[in-house]
Amino acid sequence: MSDLPQAAIYTPDRALDTLTEWLGVPVDAADFPKTELRYRNDRAAQTVGLSDLSDEDWAKHFGRFEPLEGNYPRPLALKYHGHQFRNYNPDIGDGRGFLFAQMRDNDGRLMDLGTKGSGPTPFSRSGDGRLTLKGAVREILATEMLEALGASTSKTFSVVETGEELQRGDEPSPTRSAVMVRLSHSHIRIGTFQRLLAHEEPDQMAGLIDYCLAQFPGPPPPADAPGRDEPAVRLMHNVVERMADLAASYMVAGFVHGVLNTDNMNITGESFDYGPWRWLPEWDASFTAAYFDHGRLYAFGRQPEALHWNCGQFAVALRLLADTEPLVFALERFGPLYMEAIARRWCWRLGVEPRGLELDSQLVSACEKSMRDTKIQPDLFFFAHRGGRGFDTHDVADSELAALISQYTPVKDDHAYWDDETPQSMVIDEVEVIWSAIDQHDDWQPLTDKVAALRRMGAAHGDAPIPSGHAD
Ligand code: AMP
Ligand code: MG
Repeated sequence: MSDLPQAAIYTPDRALDTLTEWLGVPVDAADFPKTELRYRNDRAAQTVGLSDLSDEDWAKHFGRFEPLEGNYPRPLALKYHGHQFRNYNPDIGDGRGFLFAQMRDNDGRLMDLGTKGSGPTPFSRSGDGRLTLKGAVREILATEMLEALGASTSKTFSVVETGEELQRGDEPSPTRSAVMVRLSHSHIRIGTFQRLLAHEEPDQMAGLIDYCLAQFPGPPPPADAPGRDEPAVRLMHNVVERMADLAASYMVAGFVHGVLNTDNMNITGESFDYGPWRWLPEWDASFTAAYFDHGRLYAFGRQPEALHWNCGQFAVALRLLADTEPLVFALERFGPLYMEAIARRWCWRLGVEPRGLELDSQLVSACEKSMRDTKIQPDLFFFAHRGGRGFDTHDVADSELAALISQYTPVKDDHAYWDDETPQSMVIDEVEVIWSAIDQHDDWQPLTDKVAALRRMGAAHGDAPIPSGHAD
């Protein structure tokens, strides 16, 4: 992963044009009292050919939402339903965001620019349609950290401060406002399909499935999968494969998303929509991110189960077009795929060559046990054991584990990051320090420095291995 990707030529592609009749409603952005550019992600912009924009034009497009050339003349607030903490809610949809533009990236992938905090829509209910600046800063940090740890995630593309005072129960208020733009490999959610089931719209669902298969192609289902030629079944397999890998990527990253509702689940398996997320201070399956998650439904160790459950809801929606049996067949692949993904991603983060699923799974268990016993911070654990090093500090020393890891071949790893004294991490104290510099002194340097440090860690890790059988 080089620091700046190969520059793309801006290539608009209104791929959703045939679905916009029913997929969303045209809306306008709020007229903000100010639009002060706070963060532009030139690395992400380069992948879609938008890094040459002047700051002035950037604020025009991503603060005032003047249409991009060749793109949608008006943004679209997307319609969807979803299970929120397992309760079905038909009264959601883009309540503070919209789809702004679509374009190809330098790999030819279809990408969306979508917003958060761009003003009210017909789906806002009692909400103000706004985003806090702190929320935007937190989303920058989450996406950069996840990307550096090899997870598939949306990119935080832009943050513009908008000069309003917001009242929020979970932040000292009044608090500053912002509008964020996210670069995302689609905004089609499991909840988008759930809404079509609820409204009994088989034709629209068939059109949406065709769109997903054409725009986000995946490998064909296994040879023994029933109904493997049916579009709905093919998509179900792809979504299960992606969600299993996404669940594994959260676990290997030590990341707790916090709100794994079906409206926050992208069909492409790309993680997005970061609210009350946390990184683990220590390896604890019960660690919960959202203060309002009283039942610990989305605790760290329950994330694979949550994503599996969401896949189950996707299958229920697809029942509008497909039989149960082939969908259940696909759903049952989640567990084995998740085990493979954990082993593959764990070895990757540890910097060792995989030795086969059984041995690698034993290694994962031994590492987890060691982390639980020592209470070491997980980022430090991986850093210390990277490539079988097994730092000889009292925090890390575990002779049994060291013996196990020593049977593995380290990957070639000469990045200077591995010689640092401490690894990059994203525990809550550091997040608060970074926010506090902005809040108290309008000092953005700690954030800028952190993003640079995370990208350096990402370069040291390189790209995460992709599942076997996957072309993209
Ligand atoms: P989330 O939990 O962020 O995925 O949001 C769930 C639903 O609530 C989505 O439909 C959001 O658009 C909506 N929502 C969240 N916050 C606000 C807000 N401040 N104003 C309007 N709608 C909101
Ligand atoms: Mg959401």
